[in-house]
Amino acid sequence: MNKLRIIKDFIYKRWLKKFRNRREVQQYQAAKLKKQLAYMEKKSPYFARRGTKDLPVMNKQFMMEHFDELNTVGVKMEQAMKIALKAERSRDFTPRCGEVSVGLSSGTSGHRGLFLSTAKEQELWAANVCAKLLPKGKIWGNRVAFFLRSDNNLYQSVNSPALEYRYFDTSLSPAGHVPILNQYQPTLLIAPPSMLVALAGYAETGELKIRPLKIISVAEILEEADKKYLQKAFAQKVIHQVYQATEGFLACTCAYGNLHINEDLVIVKKKYLDKNRFYPGITDLERTSQPMLNYELNDILVEDRRPCPCGSPFLRIKRIEGRADDIFVFYGKEGGKVRIFPDFIRRVMLFVDGIREYQVIQVRPDLLQIAANDLTEKQKQMVMDEFCRLAAENDFIPPELEFIPYQWDSKVKLKRIRRL
Ligand SMILES: [Zn+2]
Repeated sequence: MNKLRIIKDFIYKRWLKKFRNRREVQQYQAAKLKKQLAYMEKKSPYFARRGTKDLPVMNKQFMMEHFDELNTVGVKMEQAMKIALKAERSRDFTPRCGEVSVGLSSGTSGHRGLFLSTAKEQELWAANVCAKLLPKGKIWGNRVAFFLRSDNNLYQSVNSPALEYRYFDTSLSPAGHVPILNQYQPTLLIAPPSMLVALAGYAETGELKIRPLKIISVAEILEEADKKYLQKAFAQKVIHQVYQATEGFLACTCAYGNLHINEDLVIVKKKYLDKNRFYPGITDLERTSQPMLNYELNDILVEDRRPCPCGSPFLRIKRIEGRADDIFVFYGKEGGKVRIFPDFIRRVMLFVDGIREYQVIQVRPDLLQIAANDLTEKQKQMVMDEFCRLAAENDFIPPELEFIPYQWDSKVKLKRIRRL
């Protein structure tokens, strides 16, 4: 790894590159895009043949269908898949195809995706993470504790006197991590919210004694209630969030705790679902091994049009609401189907006092499972009342509710709102 280049990149991103308004952002993006398209026309067999005038809409399926022809590093899918699966099984997270690292994304909808990265891309990624996430007052000498379900080379690439980086496996029990964290004393704690909440429990009992400067939630949606709990348990003003998919480093929070799209790294095209909700179509301006041009994610983002007090002209996101697959579907009172966004289901649960750990699973249009522990009869009644209210407001037939125990399996991504 070329540390000099990382540091140069980091300094450039941190101190030199400031965007004052939308016009500057757009100009920067246009110039980067032109370079990116020219590169793909030269290096990607797919785009060399097709040109980049009319870009196809990409998604995971498209990426897998045209994998061999799309990537610019000559990696074949069959070989890459073999390497990635073997690594996943043995938990050896350094799978490589020659010079190229291979990552496997499980996704929530079951489709597997293969992602490639080169050493240079990993350096860039590291520089971006440094530039955007390190605490403002303490640039050097940070110790990062990064919890991930499965790692790949991308995440192990930061290790220098300026920055120490340790990977923690989320599939191991939280209790086992406590003594290691106490010894390591991370300045940055990065983990999925389900793991952060579990660790917060140990912080409250005094077993976990760490004082991170920054806590960053990744990989799962950070619920409002969990956010408040973490702020209290870890005495933090802001719980930071990274919206990081294998598809790229898409967004992170500013000093005010508001999410901004990293518009210096990606261009986002909005496909609106209603006034503020949209699906992002992303064009990665830095990734070269595998073109991500006009790549549609099925996450629902909610736009916030107010300017942010931090002054960044980057697109502000109110929240990430979940996957399109998790829109609930109910029977309409007048026939037909009624679609309800995951956020409304989440709010139903918020109204009922005292429920922190839960899952709402839609089994059928007329049946929901509510997973929570030790609910009182009064709380159950409140959940039922809230669903009846939601049904009345949206003209659908209230579903039957089944209460089941809540179980958290740290090996899988936690989704509070899920449709089967
Ligand atoms: Zn901001």
